[in-house]
Amino acid sequence: MGHLEYCSNCGSLNSVQFAEGRDRVVCPSCGTIHYENPVPAATVIGQRNGELLLVKRAAPPAVGKWCLPGGFVEQGEMPEQAALRELKEETGLTADSLSFFQFCPFPSGRSGEVMVMVYIADSLDGTPEAGDDASEVQFFPLTALPPIAFRCHMAFIDSYFNQAG
Ligand SMILES: [Zn+2]
Repeated sequence: MGHLEYCSNCGSLNSVQFAEGRDRVVCPSCGTIHYENPVPAATVIGQRNGELLLVKRAAPPAVGKWCLPGGFVEQGEMPEQAALRELKEETGLTADSLSFFQFCPFPSGRSGEVMVMVYIADSLDGTPEAGDDASEVQFFPLTALPPIAFRCHMAFIDSYFNQAG
């Protein structure tokens, strides 16, 4: 609970206590319960000619490793919009439509827990160009994927392509 070490209400050192049905971060001085809820993130499985779209990460965590394009949902945004925005920012590509595929809760050092949602892109348009949090964009054959940065992303890839046969 590094990011919740101190109470944001009174500044005291927090502790973990059983509260409202589970262990939670609670301030022993003022009694404030610091609820931890997952942060929504959206990511995209996109293909071209049977190859999977991946980006090489330019920002922490996992700099230099490959993952699906995606990022955090902004306030006021629907997850699909976030997925399309991140796709465009990181790869220069657009998709006509997305369909929801799966959720994955994922512990994150900086954010507590991330709730990753993955969407399937029906098609991809444009010329790949890395931007924002991505240093490279590349399509990989499924038989020659690089090491994937995040456990959830690898699980999405596995379950989508195993389901699709
Ligand atoms: Zn307090």
